Amino acid sequence: MPQFTQTDQRPTAGSLAHPMEARQPESISGMVDLSHTVFDGLLTYKGLPPPVITDYMSRTDSRKFYTDGTEFHIGRIDMVANTGTYLDSPFHRYEGGKDLSELPLEKLADLPGICIRPKRFPVDCDAFENNDVAGRAVLVDTGWSAHWRTDQYFEHAPFLTESAARFLVQNKAALVGIDSVNIDDMNDKRRPVHSILLQNEIPIVEHLTNLSCLPSHGFRFFAIPVKVKAFGTFPVRAFAIP
Ligand SMILES: [Zn+2]
Repeated sequence: MPQFTQTDQRPTAGSLAHPMEARQPESISGMVDLSHTVFDGLLTYKGLPPPVITDYMSRTDSRKFYTDGTEFHIGRIDMVANTGTYLDSPFHRYEGGKDLSELPLEKLADLPGICIRPKRFPVDCDAFENNDVAGRAVLVDTGWSAHWRTDQYFEHAPFLTESAARFLVQNKAALVGIDSVNIDDMNDKRRPVHSILLQNEIPIVEHLTNLSCLPSHGFRFFAIPVKVKAFGTFPVRAFAIP
């Protein structure tokens, strides 16, 4: 299990980000976009294929269906469920667990949020103690999204411990999010954090970004996937309203 401290591993935010992923400041409305941009060829997770985005109907091809000057584009995307910033439902881990279509909106939208900035990795119970996580979207700001689209993103990434997952269940967190490649230790093939949180119907959001733009308290969090039957994971447009 890799052990390292925040000071020697936490990247400088924005220093390694791809130009397409330049940090987005809060919008005029105050909303904070916490999602990565999905595009053709994006590698989200090593070993999974990147999305292939093509035209199903190009603007040129569409013209024959409409009057002069009227055209449309219909795109096609072929992707695995785990693409970009995404949400895991219990079905991702458990055959009998709730799938995306069965998750109530109350578990995904307008959740009171809390942003945790752990002092050391892996992220253990001490990061969450003395914080009221009950009923909240608990977002873990590790700074690792600065490595998005680099090889470093997949190596020695921050994760939560099994005891941290148990703590979050016992203290009734509503949802848990992280700006890292996996909420679990990728070397632990039991995937205890996924197993514990999803068994307790606590959705997980991974590959968040821009968490440093959030206050520690006092925001609402939204991460709503498409309502797909018999599907466990789907990209979300995650955002917060301070
Ligand atoms: Zn996951």
